[in-house]
Amino acid sequence: MRHYDTVKRILVTGGAGFLGTHLCERLLKEGHDVLCVDNFYTGSKRNIAHLLDNPMFEIMRHDVTFPLYVEVDEIYNLACPAAPIHYQFDPVATTKVSVHGAINMLGLAKRVKAKILQASTSEVYGDPDIHPQPESYWGNVNPIGPRSCYDEGKRCAETLCYDYHRQHNLRIKVARIFNTYGPYMHVNDGRVVSNFIVQALRGEDITIYGDGSQTRSFCYCDDLIEGFIRLMNTSDDVTGPMNLGNPGEFTIKELAEIILEMVGSKSKLVFMPLPSDDPRQRKPDISFAKEKLDWAPQISLREGLMKTIDYFRNYLKENL
Ligand code: NAD
Ligand code: UDP
Ligand code: UDP
Repeated sequence: MRHYDTVKRILVTGGAGFLGTHLCERLLKEGHDVLCVDNFYTGSKRNIAHLLDNPMFEIMRHDVTFPLYVEVDEIYNLACPAAPIHYQFDPVATTKVSVHGAINMLGLAKRVKAKILQASTSEVYGDPDIHPQPESYWGNVNPIGPRSCYDEGKRCAETLCYDYHRQHNLRIKVARIFNTYGPYMHVNDGRVVSNFIVQALRGEDITIYGDGSQTRSFCYCDDLIEGFIRLMNTSDDVTGPMNLGNPGEFTIKELAEIILEMVGSKSKLVFMPLPSDDPRQRKPDISFAKEKLDWAPQISLREGLMKTIDYFRNYLKENL
């Protein structure tokens, strides 16, 4: 029996992408009315195909850099390519989706008095010289480099959220997401976890950029989505910005070795040039999320990798 007083109309932009698909699944499970908006730039119809039969799910092909007039109670603004090769492919489009997309979604939230959660990123810290990174750290970002379209775009989106909050009393939630992985990542996504798993499964060389001593902290998607939902449900005085990620820190070489062992692959490690401005280290300080959400990641790297390896193994079998 559905309780109509608790059913919310929820817009998920970028809903056919990796995180968007998990979020739509979760919101539907909770009985909400979900509108997924995506222009399929990096997301795919395949990701959300299994949701199309659900009468509470709706998909709209739309580019959020253009205005959108719909009636909703909550907005999760995820639309933006997230992998370096994809956001650097058309950097101007990346800044546009981050900035114009945020303006449109904030304008929409303002008109319909919806609550809005902005998917921000650990990239706002750039190449951090404070470790681990607390939310109070202002970051070390190159404003004119190849990653700047994404980093500065996301920083500007945060600025817009706080200005709409101060100027128009908008209810905002800003989540700074640290490297998250799992099923529904695109097979050619280019980010490190999916790249290494797909390379290991295909028996191809594992491409380590630089010497592999740079670190990242990897969060499994289900943990992240739990953090999103809890953040959205906090009282209006909690706006963030809030780090969401798994503090377990690994070098990229360690990650490659773990994946090789878990897949049982004979792939070789090959070392390639390090892309410019590649951050040396990254690890979230999640004390604020622990305090406000009573949240911490539950899934270890090996558990999460196992689920992701299974996903790509099946995917590659079906798409030979
Ligand atoms: P993704 O590339 O799989 O998903 C992004 C989605 O946005 C795709 O479905 C894409 O088609 C859509 N999109 C892009 N431009 C659009 C536009 N102009 N209009 C409508 N839709 C558009 O990436 P993801 O990992 O699922 O990331 C989702 C969000 O989370 C992004 O905003 C990203 O910046 C943020 N984020 C993700 C991570 C991570 O580790 N996964 C880390 C930090 C931040
Ligand atoms: N907007 C939208 N959907 C809405 C309301 C607004 O896409 O339901 C867009 C609109 O195109 C505008 C932007 O959001 O450019 C910002 O709206 P806001 O009301 O803040 O600014 P204004 O319309 O005054 O420029
Ligand atoms: N990386 C790598 N090989 C790959 C893909 C990425 O060594 O095939 C490295 C990349 O240089 C970076 C780290 O892995 O140091 C994480 O890269 P990713 O693109 O996943 O995310 P981000 O750099 O945005 O954290």
